[in-house]
Amino acid sequence: MTAHLASETQRYLAQAEEFGAHNYHPLPIVVSEAHGAWVTDVDGKRYLDCLAAYSALNFGHAHPVLVDVAKAQLDRLTLTSRAFHNDRLGPFLEGLARLAGKEMVLPMNTGAEAVESAIKVARAWGYRVKGVEHDRAKIIVADGNFHGRTTTIISFSDDPDARNDFGPYTPGFVSVPYGDAAALAAAIDDDTVAVLLEPIQGEAGIVVPPAGYLAEVRRLTLDAGVLFIADEIQSGLGRTGATFQCDNEGVVPDLYLLGKALGGGIVPVSAVVGDAAVLGVLRPGEHGSTFGGNPLAAAVGLAVVGMLETGEFQRRSRELGARLRARLDALVGHGVVEVRSVGLWAGVDIDPALASGRRVAELLAERGVLAKDTHGSTIRLAPPLVIESDELDWAVDQLEAVLADLRS
Ligand SMILES: *Cc1c(COP(=O)(O)O)cnc(C)c1O
Repeated sequence: MTAHLASETQRYLAQAEEFGAHNYHPLPIVVSEAHGAWVTDVDGKRYLDCLAAYSALNFGHAHPVLVDVAKAQLDRLTLTSRAFHNDRLGPFLEGLARLAGKEMVLPMNTGAEAVESAIKVARAWGYRVKGVEHDRAKIIVADGNFHGRTTTIISFSDDPDARNDFGPYTPGFVSVPYGDAAALAAAIDDDTVAVLLEPIQGEAGIVVPPAGYLAEVRRLTLDAGVLFIADEIQSGLGRTGATFQCDNEGVVPDLYLLGKALGGGIVPVSAVVGDAAVLGVLRPGEHGSTFGGNPLAAAVGLAVVGMLETGEFQRRSRELGARLRARLDALVGHGVVEVRSVGLWAGVDIDPALASGRRVAELLAERGVLAKDTHGSTIRLAPPLVIESDELDWAVDQLEAVLADLRS
């Protein structure tokens, strides 16, 4: 694909290849500007963004409300550290707690930090509240999980690329098949402090568990006195047509893990959200972050909470998601093997005999649509929730055309 790339793009790619660590394999598109659902590259070519930075851009690029809040905050106060209070943090904490129907918020920066924080909270809760013997706490996770890239988190990943040469691994985790409540029930014992799950497995290819699975996990964890930690870093904050994917399943976990869209596509903002009986176990000095809860992040996060309170983005996700699903279902048997989706979030399995997911993503980019492959032959579609229905139709038209070209 590189032969016919325009000149600015080629210059940039050579620089990034030479000086950047090679821990990613991005599509060869160099974005320099973006608004709403559209991005422009350094050679002036426009693309419709159908990935939205893995849902970090749920509200689109440069949403005017969020940009205004960020600009005003930049002029006033950006960082205090947690050695002092700042006047933006309290309102953000209260707003997010109320949005989630919980009592407390622990602010951090990246998603992986929210996961790490929840692991520490669950272990401390296990020893101090549940009475598990010291250093025996066990957390149950699911096969195919993706919770981030730190050494502890990759210790319970089953993706060889994520983990192979990065041991020794953190103990204390047990993995069971995703979507199998009986396997989870069998894995719970007296040392189990938490079950940590994605309500939908995003990186695994938008894997939606069977109906009733999350409710059964909630019942099992309540019965056993075990915390249910829902990693909603990608599924939460509007993506699935609800504030949380757990809402769609009528389930309330003990801890929500949030990130990605919480920063409005502007700054990294993550959080653990839960009740005082759980999050309240942390004492001063036991956990923290220099940048966690900084005033710029808190201002943007509060504005994100305000946008979600209206329900508008959740509704757009439901309505546009139904349209997307209908269009994608029509491609099954025409180069598509299977479609999975909830809200405006879809995994499209391409017939592997036709092309790899990577090849389809490259051909989509040539036609002006940005999407990303995952796990060989799956294309993930997660456009910003501000996308218009005719734009969404146009994106599916491009996928249809790509598949038709490949089949001819
Ligand atoms: C992206 C993601 C993470 C990690 O977030 P980072 O900000 O990249 O550290 C954790 N869990 C899920 C479900 C994610 O999608």
